[in-house]
Amino acid sequence: MFLTEIMGVGDELLYGETVDTNTAELARSLQPYALKIFRTLRVADDLSALSSELRQAWNSAHLTILSGGLGPTPDDITREAIAQALGEDLELDEVMLEHIRSIFSKRGWAMPESNRKQAQKIASATWLQNPRGTAPGWWIHKDGRDLVALPGPPAEWRPMWAELLPKLNLPTQPYAQKTFKTFGIGESKIAEDLGNLFLREGLVQVGTYAKAHGVEVVVRGEPAGVANLARAIQPKLEANLWGQDSDTLPSVILHQLEATGATLATMESLSGGTLGGLITEVAGASRVYVGGMVAYSPQAKRQFGVSEEALSHGMVSEECARAMAEAARSRLGATYALSTTGVAGPDELEGQPVGTVLVALAGPSGTEVRKNRFPPYGREFIRVRAAYAALALLRGELM
Ligand code: AMP
Ligand code: MG
Repeated sequence: MFLTEIMGVGDELLYGETVDTNTAELARSLQPYALKIFRTLRVADDLSALSSELRQAWNSAHLTILSGGLGPTPDDITREAIAQALGEDLELDEVMLEHIRSIFSKRGWAMPESNRKQAQKIASATWLQNPRGTAPGWWIHKDGRDLVALPGPPAEWRPMWAELLPKLNLPTQPYAQKTFKTFGIGESKIAEDLGNLFLREGLVQVGTYAKAHGVEVVVRGEPAGVANLARAIQPKLEANLWGQDSDTLPSVILHQLEATGATLATMESLSGGTLGGLITEVAGASRVYVGGMVAYSPQAKRQFGVSEEALSHGMVSEECARAMAEAARSRLGATYALSTTGVAGPDELEGQPVGTVLVALAGPSGTEVRKNRFPPYGREFIRVRAAYAALALLRGELM
């Protein structure tokens, strides 16, 4: 068994100020390999705590990866902790020091003395060049074990890790993963529909994960088994399936619209631009997305073409949602338009409970409105759900 440990270093990770996404992302990148991870750690910026954890890890794990604590300030003690754990001395590397100095001089700055320590390493470490910052990483390969120290910022360590990973020669296992993405169906119903296909033990496993964009069904494990099981599972999900693997709801929709030369507009109330934000996350959105309005108040809705008659039913009404979508469609001359209105909370509105959300789709064949009642888990939850509910309505229409 090839034991692996992953650590996030930093006080902020222990106090919950920064979520340790590095450890999760590093662990995900190791999925294709035949490694065993029994635990991951978050460790304080504390020399004795970190060096003792590193000593333990070095004695038990084949591979130890840590991120954070490679900065120039006094709280960055990862280098010292590794040196202590492995019983080696820190030595200044003049070439690295010149390199770090040059990063500063290119920006017209003098290097602060504190950055000198980033040019220190132990003899058994090799440098991992950091093209995006001053903190180089360390790779130690010694006594058949590997220890990797990466800087904290994801933008810095990602390219370094991508370059190093193949060089580690980690044991591989044939591995595949298939993800089905659904909307409008709950986890328990999916589990019921899958019945004995919902495998939990053996070479292939199934898991369901509830996300804002709907429930994901993931099949993972040995490739032939994954392919067989995925083939059996897909028809059971087909009615609610909007995408697979790396698909996102906006990307699937935009590609579909682009293929037919159709365009899209939005008018948002409670989601306040979240829907437009999701759409414009997709590269090339401009070929399909005309734009949209955030019509938060009755005045704004009126201004953007929602009739008094529609508003007289209230802002949280099917009539209002319908009028918003139709106004966005005609004002912006789009093939389709989506709208959102509802109650994000914390207070109810127009006698409607928190979580009431109306989404509408106006298109060439008329207008469709859907009423949702999301659980009152906070404004952010409801606003994001509303945006995805609007997208799901359009995806349903296009299928
Ligand atoms: P450091 O290398 O410890 O100076 O960390 C620099 C920055 O990287 C921190 O301020 C965080 O924004 C980010 N960072 C550090 N560790 C993590 C982590 N485990 N997960 C996500 N971001 C992190
Ligand atoms: Mg830190």
